[in-house]
Amino acid sequence: MTIRVNGTTRLAGIIGLPIDHTLSPAMHNAVYEHLGLNWVYVPLPIADETDLYRLLGAIRALPFVGFNVTMPYKQAMLSLCDEVAMLARMAGAVNTVHFEGGRLIGYNTDGRGLLESLTLETGFDLLGKDVVIVGAGGAAGAAFVAFMLGKARRITVVNRKLVRADELVSRMRSHLRITEAATVETESAEAVIASASLIVNATPLGMRDGDVSPIPAEWLNSEQVVVDMIYRPSKTALEIAAEQAGAKAINGLGMLVSQGALAVDIWSESAQIRTPRDVMRAAAERAMIDMHTKEIDF
Ligand code: NAP
Repeated sequence: MTIRVNGTTRLAGIIGLPIDHTLSPAMHNAVYEHLGLNWVYVPLPIADETDLYRLLGAIRALPFVGFNVTMPYKQAMLSLCDEVAMLARMAGAVNTVHFEGGRLIGYNTDGRGLLESLTLETGFDLLGKDVVIVGAGGAAGAAFVAFMLGKARRITVVNRKLVRADELVSRMRSHLRITEAATVETESAEAVIASASLIVNATPLGMRDGDVSPIPAEWLNSEQVVVDMIYRPSKTALEIAAEQAGAKAINGLGMLVSQGALAVDIWSESAQIRTPRDVMRAAAERAMIDMHTKEIDF
C-alpha cells in the first residue's frame, strides 16, 4: 500500500486507549487508496478526558474529515459533539464523528454495522424474532437500537449486573413501538436464551486467553444464529460453544468492517460512493496476520 501525503491531504483517525492493536488504520488507508481519496487515517491514543477535550480543539483547527471513537470514550463523546444524530443519542454512544462546516457531528455506525454483517454473513431476518443481547454497555445499546429498527418481536438484555441492563432498557422505553423489551441476569438466562432466534455477545468476555464462553453450549441449539462482537481471537469460546450446539456462528470482524465502511460513507458525503467492504475486510485480515507474525517474532 502506498500512501502519498501532500499539502492537500485530509486527516481521519481513531481516538481511544489502548489502540496499539487497532485494525482501523489498515482498513481505512487501504480503502482511501482504492477510492483515490487523498486522506490518511492515524491512531490517536488519548490518555484521559482532559486530553480528549484538548484534542478536539486541535481537530477543529486541522483538515480533518472526521474520526472514529472507541473504548473508553464513546459515551463521553456524546456531550462533546456540536450535534448528535438520533441513532447515536438512542444508543448512548458515538463511534463516528464527521467534521463538517467547522462542527463535530456525532453518529453511531456500530448498530448498522452489526445488522449489515448479520444480513450479509447469515441472511438472518429480524422481523418478528426474539433476540438476546448479552452485555449492557455501548455496543449493546447500539445493537438494541438496530434490532428495534429491524422490528424484532422481543429484545432481552442479559447482563451480569441487572441494574445496568435495566438502565439500558429504560433509556429505550420511549422509543419502543412494536418491539417488547426485557432484562435478565446472566445466571438466570437459560430459558430466554434457549428460546431466542439470535444471540449477540456484546461483552469483552472471550478476548483474553482462557476466557470462558459468556453462555454455556447447553443453552444453545441448532436453530439459532450466534454473533460474537469480538473478532480477536478469530474463534472465541462462544463461537466454539455455538458450533458444538449446531448453531450458526459469526465473529465481529464483519461488524468492524461495516461500521468502518459506514463511517467512510458519511465522511465522503457522496451518494455515488458505497465504500467497498471487501477491500476493508482484506486489509483488516492482512493486518491481523502481520500483528500476529510480529508478536511471534518478539
Ligand atoms: P462496555 O461499554 O465496557 O460494556 C461492557 C459490557 O460487558 C458490560 O455490560 C459489562 O457488564 C460486560 N462485561 C464486561 N466484562 C465482563 C465479564 N468478564 N463477564 C461478563 N460480562 C462482562 O463495552 P462496549 O463498548 O459495549 O464493548 C463490548 C464488546 O464489544 C467489546 O469486546 C468490544 O470490543 C466489542 N465491540 C465490537 C465491535 C465490532 O465492530 N466488532 C464494535 C463495538 C464493540 P457489567 O455491566 O456487569 O459490568
